[in-house]
Amino acid sequence: MLKIQNNICFKRIHITFVPSILISMMKGIKSTLLFLLISATAFSQNSGFLNLKYEENYTPTYDEVIEMYQKLDTHHENARLIEKGLTDCGKPLHLFVMNSEPEFDVEAIRNQGKAVLLINNGIHPGEPAGIDASLQFADDILRNKKEMAQILDNTVIIIIPVYSIGGHLNRSAYNRSGQTTPYETGFRGNYANLDLNRDFTKCDSENARSFHKIFSEWEPDIFLDTHTTNGSDHQYSITLVPPPPTLFPPVMETFLRNTFLPMLYTEMNSREYELIPYVNYFYHDPKQGIAMSQEGPRYSSGFASMFHTIGMMTENEIYKPYPDRVKSCYQFIEVLAEYTSENSKNIQELRADGIRESMAMKEFPVAYKLDSTQFQIIEFKGYEAVDEQISPVTGLPRFGYDKSQPYTAQIKYLDTWVPTETVPVPKFYVLPQSYREVIERLNLLNIQYSKLQNDTVLEVTVDYIDEFTSPAQPYNGHFYHNKVKTRSEVQKIKYYRGDLVIPTRQEKIKYLLEMFEPKAEDSFFRWNFFDNILDQREYFSSYGFEENALKYLEDHPEFKANFFKAREQNPELAKNHRAQLAWIYNNSEWKEKTWKRYPVGRIFQ
Ligand SMILES: [Zn+2]
Repeated sequence: MLKIQNNICFKRIHITFVPSILISMMKGIKSTLLFLLISATAFSQNSGFLNLKYEENYTPTYDEVIEMYQKLDTHHENARLIEKGLTDCGKPLHLFVMNSEPEFDVEAIRNQGKAVLLINNGIHPGEPAGIDASLQFADDILRNKKEMAQILDNTVIIIIPVYSIGGHLNRSAYNRSGQTTPYETGFRGNYANLDLNRDFTKCDSENARSFHKIFSEWEPDIFLDTHTTNGSDHQYSITLVPPPPTLFPPVMETFLRNTFLPMLYTEMNSREYELIPYVNYFYHDPKQGIAMSQEGPRYSSGFASMFHTIGMMTENEIYKPYPDRVKSCYQFIEVLAEYTSENSKNIQELRADGIRESMAMKEFPVAYKLDSTQFQIIEFKGYEAVDEQISPVTGLPRFGYDKSQPYTAQIKYLDTWVPTETVPVPKFYVLPQSYREVIERLNLLNIQYSKLQNDTVLEVTVDYIDEFTSPAQPYNGHFYHNKVKTRSEVQKIKYYRGDLVIPTRQEKIKYLLEMFEPKAEDSFFRWNFFDNILDQREYFSSYGFEENALKYLEDHPEFKANFFKAREQNPELAKNHRAQLAWIYNNSEWKEKTWKRYPVGRIFQ
């Protein structure tokens, strides 16, 4: 029965993909013969229902990807390809939904108690293994290969076929210089030349806005973002950037460390392709140890963690044959989907417990460091690192790996990040309505808030940005602030009708803290959303301020005494007219209270 269906599918699909030259050659051949020829081609490629050619080092174009998902949609009533908002190049972002029945309404699916697994592909289009693997997986699960369809009984799988559509369309053999196959791929920057895997919190791209809507609508339990790395060379086709355990509340951190991550490695290693943590090495030679990478909220996995979604990235190894990259990625998706389905109820309960824990937290970490005293010893299959290999290109010595010298070693894996700074969790943030770009982002994620009904003076805790540094060159369209130092003050500030009062004790508490605490790594402040407070507005003229300054000194004898004292103690000040006026301006009531005052107020009581 299944076989007959497949034959029909092969026939239908293959006609679409047969090159025109082949069609003209075949003209006049009787239709039965044509059918047999086409089926034989399909079977020899072992590509199932779709015309995937990863075995031939070919990854599909954007149009081919969408066409293949459309075919799956047409052929299977329990699968649907949906358009979900736009991307920067004007083309829609697609979401492919697979359920056990023709039900695609999120609410209805949630009410059935199913878990949601989201897979994102092509965020870096030069890293397309996940695009092929997801297509193959969707095809296999929908035609119930190896009884796979039962996965959908407890879990809905939603796939973003290609996330950076503009990048994928920018296709060339000369993207991704470290890659020999597939022969052509897309480009890392999207249509706006943004790296979309740095855009999850600043959300500059239309792609990210559409993604935010998908994410808050579906609230995935598990999230996978597929990548390929050109880091160190070793014997593995696939590596894992894990869900960062430290970024989760205790109940989830324990689950990730003790259950989930060991399960992934054990399951993968019992199958064809072994899995190793992403080889984040200290030196070129991983024998000297590797560290768990902890990607913050600007990255996909860190973004997911803010919503208690177990998010991770696979990093295929660029130096392995493309078919192995696709098949190992496929194997990972299979393991992840099986586990999600078998544990769907537990995972959902765990997330609910995690959210409860987060909503009760008193302190929130805003900085971390890798703890060099905590590590596991893991088995690592590498190639000997060689410092003085002769380059066939330049004839000069270079660093490299000698593939004729494979080894298996026990190496250190530093797997714990510890907080180095925390801040107290307020009850509310107060956000002036003038920050419309921030409010727009809150709305994309369905953040709950109320608006002031009247102009009101509120006593709030505010931060002054005492120090910060920014790069001379922009980074992904921003002058990201490094090394932020702040000081808090309690002030009475006038707010206006329509300003936002945002309760922190809501399910998305971690998003609010990450985005509104200015020192948090990917906060709105860091990404320049509040830069208007960083320079003074009025200041003074060296000539025009004279009269007022003189009068102020005469009216305030104590202030005047302090001014004279400062002048005596500082000879430079004593010699400098403008510096003395500045001293008066910045230490008197003329001081601009809004200068460097971070405008988001905190209410603790
Ligand atoms: Zn990548």
